[in-house]
Amino acid sequence: STPLGQLDPEIAGLIDAELARQREGLEMIASENHTASAVMAAQGSVLTNKYAEGYPGRRYYGGCEHVDEVERLAIARVKSLFDAEFANVQPHSGAQANASVMHALIRPGDTVLGLDLAAGGHLTHGMKINFSGRLYNIAAYGVREDTNCIDMAEVDRLAQEHQPKLIVAGWSAYSRQLDFAEFRRIADSVGAYLMVDMAHFAGLVAAGLHPSPVPHAHVVTSTTHKTLGGPRGGIILTNDADIAKKVNSAVFPGQQGGPLEHVIAGKAVAFGLAASETFVEKQQRTLTGAAELARRLGESDVADLGITVLTGGTDVHLVLVDLRNSVLDGGQAEDLLASIGITVNRNAVPNDPRPPMVTSGLRIGTPALASRGFGSAAFAEVADIIAEVLKAGAAEAGAESGAEPQVIAELSDRVSALATAHPLYPTMNEIGAR
Ligand code: PLP
Repeated sequence: STPLGQLDPEIAGLIDAELARQREGLEMIASENHTASAVMAAQGSVLTNKYAEGYPGRRYYGGCEHVDEVERLAIARVKSLFDAEFANVQPHSGAQANASVMHALIRPGDTVLGLDLAAGGHLTHGMKINFSGRLYNIAAYGVREDTNCIDMAEVDRLAQEHQPKLIVAGWSAYSRQLDFAEFRRIADSVGAYLMVDMAHFAGLVAAGLHPSPVPHAHVVTSTTHKTLGGPRGGIILTNDADIAKKVNSAVFPGQQGGPLEHVIAGKAVAFGLAASETFVEKQQRTLTGAAELARRLGESDVADLGITVLTGGTDVHLVLVDLRNSVLDGGQAEDLLASIGITVNRNAVPNDPRPPMVTSGLRIGTPALASRGFGSAAFAEVADIIAEVLKAGAAEAGAESGAEPQVIAELSDRVSALATAHPLYPTMNEIGAR
């Protein structure tokens, strides 16, 4: 048995159970990924012992010579990856990164214009009980009812009407690219800062497969654990020296105390990996997989049961399934997929008639499967499995009874076959409970 296994078998057992769950099922939560073993090795290191308040070369603690180098490497690598002049790699999470930028650039009571949560925005873009909604005056833009896409003329109109100090572009559940140049034009026209939160699509940007917001935005925030495939955490990028200075003091001491240098080491490893050809090829498969999923769902006969793809397709790593016209709701669809070993999350769609805990949508993403080695044939198979289980569920009377047990058993076997054919962390037996 391992040291953790001996010392704390309860926790070790749970970590092993989670590893087995990830290995045996298919993770299709759009905000998740399977990070590299090397990233986890850095995170599980002695760097977790070190206090390092401040920034490299300007710390409030002694003994920082090695973590200084770790943090300098992380900064240099992420600047080069995204072609940005300044970077802060200390935010503990995406939410902390966004809070820090708001703290740096605007004052409580100022107006922020961001994408409505109900239309695919993030909590930190102005949800009522989030810090953003409590501290700032929020004016939200949504999506057009006919296309389910953001209408830049409407963003412009709202900006002129509300005169925000900060405009936020970025999303958690949206399947199309944003017009960063137009967002910047609108921000400039009202004297607002433009913050782009690229948390979801950062990996695509790093691979050169999605337009970069860095040349357009005053400041760009991101998580490091979604398409980017690193450890859980946040980053802030800018090309403006004055903004960089304000952001640094907003992160520390404004929002946080000691940085998580073990996580920053994991970020550095991930930024190094993201600069490789292998990473670009993986992001390409991520995109192809999502496009294939949208196409197959769109062409399958689930449309006859009121199940469609929101916006008719995708430009990114996720597909939004619209269940507004189906007897199947988001919660039931999530449970059905879970019953065959596919993990996704229910998600509200624009103008959702069902309550937030139920919803009329699913958000399905391909990054984790791409990290597992899925190529187009495997993505086609998983798309067909998803279409079949949704069809079986929706065809059952009122969906109350779920799908037929033999259909579930057969589809579960097909999921298991895909999982077995794409082993996760194949060379590490006990990656969690070492
Ligand atoms: N920004 C966006 C667009 C997100 O989707 C998320 C997380 O889902 C976050 C920020 C917050 O990241 P974290 O969960 O690390 O705080």
